[in-house]
Amino acid sequence: VVIFGTTGMVDVTDVYEVLNQKINDCRKPVFPVLPSIVLAAKEMERFKSHGRAYFTDESALGKAIAKVYNRPKPASDFISPAIDAEAVRNVIDNVQNGYLTPIEVQVLLDSAGINRAKEEIANSEVEIIICASKLNFPLVMKVVGPVHKSDVGGVALNITSVSQLRETFRKMMEIEGAVAVMLQEMLSGTELFAGVNFEPKVGHVILCGLGGVFIEVIKDISSGLSPLNKDSAHDMIRSLIGYKIFAGVRGKEGISEEIFADIIVRISALLQVAPEIREMDMNPLLGRIDSITAVDARIRIEK
Ligand code: ADP
Ligand code: MG
Repeated sequence: VVIFGTTGMVDVTDVYEVLNQKINDCRKPVFPVLPSIVLAAKEMERFKSHGRAYFTDESALGKAIAKVYNRPKPASDFISPAIDAEAVRNVIDNVQNGYLTPIEVQVLLDSAGINRAKEEIANSEVEIIICASKLNFPLVMKVVGPVHKSDVGGVALNITSVSQLRETFRKMMEIEGAVAVMLQEMLSGTELFAGVNFEPKVGHVILCGLGGVFIEVIKDISSGLSPLNKDSAHDMIRSLIGYKIFAGVRGKEGISEEIFADIIVRISALLQVAPEIREMDMNPLLGRIDSITAVDARIRIEK
């Protein structure tokens, strides 16, 4: 560790130049601590222009070293779950940049082994009746096209009759940007979310949490860098403020932590095969003690 500042009486450029050279030549790592951020500002600028980094005080260096030292060891069991890579690539290679269509999202989730609600997509009133006959009532109807469906009145829950189906279909097709209507079976469970953000210079960050107020008000979100293994996925879940909900509270059914961790590693496996995924948002997934099912998923691709 080289700590070198100045009283401002002399120019220390040559000292920092030597330091720069030594960082290049020395076989041991050299940590510069350059405290004179005001008096040696010019010299430090020059040092930085060589691509060098430094600490401005030794306690910051100490903290950083402690962080590195205490970091969990890289996981040894890095076996990703098997996913249908060919089917995933087939979608990714044939789409343009932007949000995937519901059918493409279905293929990706199915290929990754992420459980989703049974759904059908219809373009006409006749078709919607046929689609409904393949599903069990009560149903949920959603507009296809707009990104935030509820905001535009594009989600109708608890559809119990064919007449309701027809009427809602007509209304939804009038929404601006509507191209079709999706039908899903109505499910129950505790709302969870899982997703992906792509951070330049960092890579894919996988996010998870509980839905509803937990995400909107408390911002109770866990994150981890992809790729992730099962242990890290469990760590993410356990660090949620609302973690106790998984065990079930006040007589409410719990949520399978194991299945949620499995979904997280499957997202990680999907990203390995399709790094072009820049954004993924499954919100909500409906969690129960023996299943977790995605009912709304959005994926954006950028090549
Ligand atoms: P968006 O997020 O675009 O507004 P969603 O598909 O997430 O649309 O639907 C809005 C809400 O409706 C969800 O947060 C969930 O509470 C409920 N919901 C959606 N699909 C289902 C379903 N299949 N079963 C039960 N509830 C659902
Ligand atoms: Mg949603």
